Amino acid sequence: MTTLADPVPGGRPGDVDRATALSGELAERGVHGVVLAYVDTAGIGRVKTVPAAKLPAAAAWGVGMSPVFDTFLADDSIVTTDVLGSPDGDLRLFPDLDHLAVLAGQPGWAWAPVDRVTQEGERHPGCSRTFLRRVVADAERRHGITFKAAFEIEWAVGQGTAPEGEFEPAVSGPAYGATRQVELGDCTAELLAALAAQGVDVDQIHPEYAAGQFEVSVGALDPVAAADRSVLVRQTIRAVAQRRGLRISFAPAVLAQGVGNGGHVHLSAWRDRVNLHSGGTGRHGMTPDAESFAAGLLTHLPALTAVTAPSPASYLRLKPSQWAGVFTAWGLETREAAVRVVTGTQGLRERAANLEVKPVDLAANPYLALGCLIAAGLDGLSSSAALPEEITGDPVRLGEAEAASRGVRRLPASLAEAVTEFRKDEVLRTALGPVLADAVIAVRQGEIAAVDGLDDEQVAAAYRWKY
Ligand code: GLU
Ligand code: MG
Repeated sequence: MTTLADPVPGGRPGDVDRATALSGELAERGVHGVVLAYVDTAGIGRVKTVPAAKLPAAAAWGVGMSPVFDTFLADDSIVTTDVLGSPDGDLRLFPDLDHLAVLAGQPGWAWAPVDRVTQEGERHPGCSRTFLRRVVADAERRHGITFKAAFEIEWAVGQGTAPEGEFEPAVSGPAYGATRQVELGDCTAELLAALAAQGVDVDQIHPEYAAGQFEVSVGALDPVAAADRSVLVRQTIRAVAQRRGLRISFAPAVLAQGVGNGGHVHLSAWRDRVNLHSGGTGRHGMTPDAESFAAGLLTHLPALTAVTAPSPASYLRLKPSQWAGVFTAWGLETREAAVRVVTGTQGLRERAANLEVKPVDLAANPYLALGCLIAAGLDGLSSSAALPEEITGDPVRLGEAEAASRGVRRLPASLAEAVTEFRKDEVLRTALGPVLADAVIAVRQGEIAAVDGLDDEQVAAAYRWKY
């Protein structure tokens, strides 16, 4: 379990000794630098790096970085809120030593996720990892509930030699094709070795549907660890591919048309070590709490898309019949509903049953996405919300009247619509707190303005290599 205690000036108890021992081990393993990683509001991974010998100092006092990145856009321009976006002030980045990994795909480097703390030693209200730790701690304290989560990761592999800005798939074989597996077999084997060396528990990896697309699924962890892992796995995929002259895109829509890159979230709620999605009296073995949790997700999904699908390019992906789940509906193993109920196979259900949330992509800050998904689900659970009737098949085939009578809504078709929904959603805004909620709105509005007047092809091109 990820530690839920906040970092403090001088270091969390035991951290400085541990960092001192670790920096010695890192030196012996040929590691020179440590990447201190977080994700900004726009979903861009931002880093500082320090020499491995400075890890104890970082564990004790953090490493300085401006809070201005909280309102950076994907193109590195800056917007402002009442409290963020100013050139003033500084924060301290504190590495979480439990999640430090030696990067097998980047010899000489280690990596650690950070929490951001003010110079006075207080939680930075704009820190998304701190937000998720708080949501998880509150869920346990107030509801006695813990979670397991995992992000699926999809990406497109392009030729490094493609003309600047363009995408030329590095493989030509068909979706799920044996040909495509062979074409990139050496690189994928190297990736599996790197992930294994970093202690990442890979469930499966396969050629996906879109041009040059692959996908990896990893084992479920506590939510903070799952978000960390999604960042680490992407860093590893990119590094291994780059050493082979390939270029990686996790953008929601690498090309304007067709299937995009998803970042589906698998989430399960547990009480007293019992999976609430299995062995219950509700539909498909769900307990009443699990049904209400799913109902909460569905209710808040239109607003959640401002967090889970945060880029103008996200809405090139979020189209019906592309397995991205753009309707507020749920179904058993239904790949077109926003929430897919996964029971797992007979014999594994107590462990494996979960909810898969599909309208999530890898432009999303994974900490904000998971924290908001959990807040939405808990809102349903604590109000014993009723889960509507399940759907089968593609909801796009329901006529308008039938969809309306079943409460099936099309999710926002643009980032602007998502922001309108988000502004109205008190539950999500309260969970985030005013600083983060305002940052989400300001950054989304900034992205909307940045693509004003661009056509779909130009939007895809603008974000193709940002994530
Ligand atoms: N690529 C699809 C998406 O954008 C997901 C395909 C799948 O179900 O794995 O969400
Ligand atoms: Mg997939």
